[in-house]
Amino acid sequence: MRYFEVRASPGPWRWTGRYEAEHRWMLPGVDCPQCGTWADTGAYPTVDLSGTGALAKELEETLGPRSLAEYRRMAAAVAPLLAADQELTPGGEFGPLRGTASGDFGPLTAWPGWQLLVREDARAALRGPQLQGLHVVPAELKGSGGQLYEVEARPVGRAHHASVTPSSPSCDVCGHQGGFDLAADWALDAASLPPADVFRIQGTGVLVVSERFAATVDRLGPSDVELREVPSR
Ligand SMILES: [Zn+2]
Repeated sequence: MRYFEVRASPGPWRWTGRYEAEHRWMLPGVDCPQCGTWADTGAYPTVDLSGTGALAKELEETLGPRSLAEYRRMAAAVAPLLAADQELTPGGEFGPLRGTASGDFGPLTAWPGWQLLVREDARAALRGPQLQGLHVVPAELKGSGGQLYEVEARPVGRAHHASVTPSSPSCDVCGHQGGFDLAADWALDAASLPPADVFRIQGTGVLVVSERFAATVDRLGPSDVELREVPSR
């Protein structure tokens, strides 16, 4: 199986579709006494926090960074709702995208680059060929010509160790994983390839789709998306 990194194409774009939206709930960043203030990227539209009572209300607001104790209180209420391959981190986003949209969208939209949206016909096509690890949630966008769906990309892929340069140490107080930079010509770690047709590279906002996913969407016509093949080592 071949894999491709997904990015918005540099343009000019064929499609006029634009949207402005946020996920319904967001955990705040954390203010750690050892490593400072930080938040990570990661969105899980399939996770419904509406059963968490007062916390759900709190997390609908964009909160500033919280103390470690306060963050942990919130994270503890969210943790039982996550699947094993969903990561709980400060700045984590949950629930459907909500906002506004205008114009016409291509089969696949990747703007911003860490968010994948598909059109109704693409969603239907992706159901056909037995794609794995695909989680698709209707986006709640007012004003769009048609229904769009967000594809949840879980952080189950890893970059090959030779493609990674550590940029910050891990923190044993808050559990912040050490940061790293990905080489421009980075490769996937073949030993950790997940059985999923869409995934995110752990510790990054980089999205990867399989050849099967790319071919299915491509049959519906051009998208303003660039797919770069990523080798596995
Ligand atoms: Zn820390």
